[in-house]
Amino acid sequence: MPNKIKKVLIANRGEIAVRIIRSLKDMGIKSVAVFSEVDRESLHTRIADECICVGPKNAKESYLNKIQIINAAIVTGADAIHPGFGFLAEDPEFAKLCEIYNIKFIGPSSKVIGLMGNKDVSKKMMQSIDIPVVPGSDGIVETVALAKEISRKIGYPVIVKARSGGGGKGMRIINSEDELENSFKAAKKEAENAFGDGALYIEKYIVKPRHIEVQILADEFGNVIHLGARDCSIQMNHQKVIEEAPPTAISKEIMDKLYEISIKAAKYVGYSNVGTIEYLVSENNEVFFMEMNTRIQVEHPVTEMVTGIDIVKEQINIASKKKLSYKQDDIKIEGCAIECRINAYDSDRNFIPSVGKIDCLNIPGGYGVRVDSSIYQGYDISPFYDSMLAKVICFGKTREEAINIMDRALDEFIVEGVKTNIKFNKMIMNDIDYIQNNYSTSFLEDKVRREG
Ligand code: ADP
Repeated sequence: MPNKIKKVLIANRGEIAVRIIRSLKDMGIKSVAVFSEVDRESLHTRIADECICVGPKNAKESYLNKIQIINAAIVTGADAIHPGFGFLAEDPEFAKLCEIYNIKFIGPSSKVIGLMGNKDVSKKMMQSIDIPVVPGSDGIVETVALAKEISRKIGYPVIVKARSGGGGKGMRIINSEDELENSFKAAKKEAENAFGDGALYIEKYIVKPRHIEVQILADEFGNVIHLGARDCSIQMNHQKVIEEAPPTAISKEIMDKLYEISIKAAKYVGYSNVGTIEYLVSENNEVFFMEMNTRIQVEHPVTEMVTGIDIVKEQINIASKKKLSYKQDDIKIEGCAIECRINAYDSDRNFIPSVGKIDCLNIPGGYGVRVDSSIYQGYDISPFYDSMLAKVICFGKTREEAINIMDRALDEFIVEGVKTNIKFNKMIMNDIDYIQNNYSTSFLEDKVRREG
């Protein structure tokens, strides 16, 4: 396999495909965009050096069609594939196919993806090296009777989660035994519908925690560093809405502990490329490993803003078999960055997705504002894919300044033709508890319940 990467196929669409193409251009590397039949006019196909259709609108037959994507890489002479996030990014079988076809998969090995992708296996591995994990069932819980027994043992509240989960689907919080049977069955059904896999496991529900995650950078020679952490506690239905770096509500002592165990975990599993280790930090500062994501994350730009490091560029350098160009001491965290996800949905109507043509668009700018997006005026938002349109990332010397800049940027962000959550994000920027950094992962749901 040649070490020098000259052409990269991006096995993704939307904002992240655009984001990756930008770094490739900055590095003088050729890019190949793939698109489904309905994405012909998408921005990523317009800015890539080449583009190739990989199938119909149904993602299963296009963006998730492994053989078709491999074929596209072969036909276009791409020597590497960047999977972005979602779609095939954490599919060990796809990474294995790339290995077989001698195409560099820009991410860790298929083996590591497989190990960390299984939440059960990864939790057991972490426990074996004394990293605390959320207490829970030892594997899949098949029956209501067993679920009751386990929940009694770990104590209510508990949370049931889907083995094949993602995006908060198939999750239910259960406060007492009376609720268990109904919630367990409902979660199973939801998981079956969403993932074709109804397998569930049970965890202790950590009440009002912070979601803190550590960004890992690892080369293929065993060097591992971290790029600090992000606080992703502003969530709706267990999905992130706003993220920031660095996490300023957590003590230095706890953060140092998280960094130390994250490096230990990444070294232990033989991790390479970029990855994120997610933790819950409880109100009394207990730390629990949740999972490791073996890919670039949606919220990576906040880390880029406070470290000055282009994470996609690092991914490509690592995949080109270069040693890390940074030592831990070189990493300096400066200022504060906040990201708001701009989604095409109606926050006045229970967050239902909104589709249609963007008639009028103004993207915010100015000091401290970065917008990663794939939309343009006249663009038709299709109902077939994720509803994220853009990410607004604002940087300030302090958290207060970053919030003020975000508030201003959201005012400037005009999207007409489809409904978005811009107003909803603005409400958060003006919330006193958010401003005072006084919140947990329950913040948004509590607020929506309170204020209707
Ligand atoms: P997914 O894989 O669906 O994204 P995660 O396991 O990453 O799900 O969890 C998503 C969010 O759900 C977390 O950030 C956290 O807010 C909440 N969550 C998950 N597990 C627990 C738990 N045991 N206790 C409290 N909250 C949890």
